Amino acid sequence: MSEHSCDVAIIGAGTAGISAYRAAVKAGADAVLIERGPGGTTCARVGCMPSKLLIAAAEAAHAARQADLFGVRVGDVRIDGPAIMHRVRAERDRFVGAVFESVDEIPAEHRIAGEARFRDARTLAVGERTVAFRAAVIATGSSPAVPEPLEGLGERLLTTDTIFEIADLPRSLAVLGGGPVGIELAQAMARLGVAVTLIDSGPTLAGLTHPDLLEAAAEIFAADMTLLPETEIERAEPVEGGVHLTWRGADGRRGEGRFAQVLAAAGRPPNLKGLDLAAARLTLDERGMPAFDPRSFVCDGAPLLIAGDANAERPILHEASRQGTIAGRNAAALVRGESPEAPEPWTPLAVVFTHPQTARVGASYDGEAQDRLLGEADFCDQGRARVEAVNQGGIRLWADRSGRLLGGEMIGPAVEHLAHILTDAIAAGRTAQDLLDRPVYHPTVEEGLQTALEAIAHAKRGA
Ligand SMILES: Cc1cc2nc3c(=O)[nH]c(=O)nc-3n(C[C@H](O)[C@H](O)[C@H](O)COP(=O)(O)OP(=O)(O)OC[C@H]3O[C@@H](n4cnc5c(N)ncnc54)[C@H](O)[C@@H]3O)c2cc1C
Repeated sequence: MSEHSCDVAIIGAGTAGISAYRAAVKAGADAVLIERGPGGTTCARVGCMPSKLLIAAAEAAHAARQADLFGVRVGDVRIDGPAIMHRVRAERDRFVGAVFESVDEIPAEHRIAGEARFRDARTLAVGERTVAFRAAVIATGSSPAVPEPLEGLGERLLTTDTIFEIADLPRSLAVLGGGPVGIELAQAMARLGVAVTLIDSGPTLAGLTHPDLLEAAAEIFAADMTLLPETEIERAEPVEGGVHLTWRGADGRRGEGRFAQVLAAAGRPPNLKGLDLAAARLTLDERGMPAFDPRSFVCDGAPLLIAGDANAERPILHEASRQGTIAGRNAAALVRGESPEAPEPWTPLAVVFTHPQTARVGASYDGEAQDRLLGEADFCDQGRARVEAVNQGGIRLWADRSGRLLGGEMIGPAVEHLAHILTDAIAAGRTAQDLLDRPVYHPTVEEGLQTALEAIAHAKRGA
């Protein structure tokens, strides 16, 4: 058994792990990066990028179908499934290749291939090797959950690990999970001509929680697919050419349907099971999650840190990257016997790339809160949105009694950009009036944000 000794061992060469490695080395530590899989990161290989490539194809189809509305005749829109999937994979491979190029810059002796498992709080086993470390970063990411009724469906079951590998689009698809990942893929598939049924055990959709926007979202997405909220899958049976599903709604009503394939998009639990965290002497909760500080990412009880999807705090890319950097720096600090840094968390920001997009920023919506000023705007009659024929959805903002912006949710055209403006304003502690005192070009969807801000400024004057 060969032995390797280092200051900092990083488990997982995803976005968080690569960032952690670079930060630890920059801080003067001797670090190694351990990866069990093919590498290339979840984002580039099976996450953000291939999903956006599929969505781009769906948007091209949708735009072609909608052209008629503007008096532009394009004839029949024909979907070439194999060509769509070919482009998704070809472009995806370019993104994965770019990750490989950057990882290849790390000297080979600092990269270890294999699955890491703790032997104790200072040693990892990686296949036949042992890696002795003074601090370690757990950056093992997450994997798609497969709900129990779907187990045993073989190739009829898709997850985000396999969906981008299909040679052609299925005729019909049941999607389990209406969160960001499920709704993005469900809508893209639907706009590419797949008959989609989306089933979710809860009432929320696309990460939205404000009741007005949830209602708008349900109406908008129902134009593309059959929506079954608050519904549990009871049974899934493989049948000739597909799957037969039976389900039960919260109201007790049962239903059934036959689908060519099923996509499980009902959550991504952290990859912690095979690590033997108990051997590392970490304090674990009933789900097997270690106790850790959400600012420094240092775990209780051992010189271990946990970053990215592995800690399940904020499973999105920009957070994985930042958390990895903080964890890598802090691992190096622990090795030097220094105190770790514990910076303020970033203002929460999440975007879902449906059409229209949805976004959530800052503090969550709290329907019970008495001390908040509320602002709203509707895109249905918003100038630019009407021009582009994307006049659906709305904005809901909340601020404290002084008008200082706290958070917001939105569904509508280009809200990814409005969400960034709002994030910046919240992080800077700005009021609605501060933003209204800045120029907004006409005609833009930013004018929709202004309407919601004016409602808050007006409510403040009346408060
Ligand atoms: C379909 C989809 C779409 C998404 N879209 C977006 C989006 O639009 N925007 C956004 O911000 N986020 C998006 N995300 C989320 C984003 O991809 C993740 O938050 C991010 O990639 C997590 O990075 P990570 O470094 O924590 O994990 P990963 O990139 O998964 O890296 C973890 C690595 O650890 C390795 N590993 C695990 N266990 C071990 C072990 N024991 N030993 C050695 N190696 C191990 C794994 O093989 C893996 O390579 C999407 C995710 C999916 C699935």
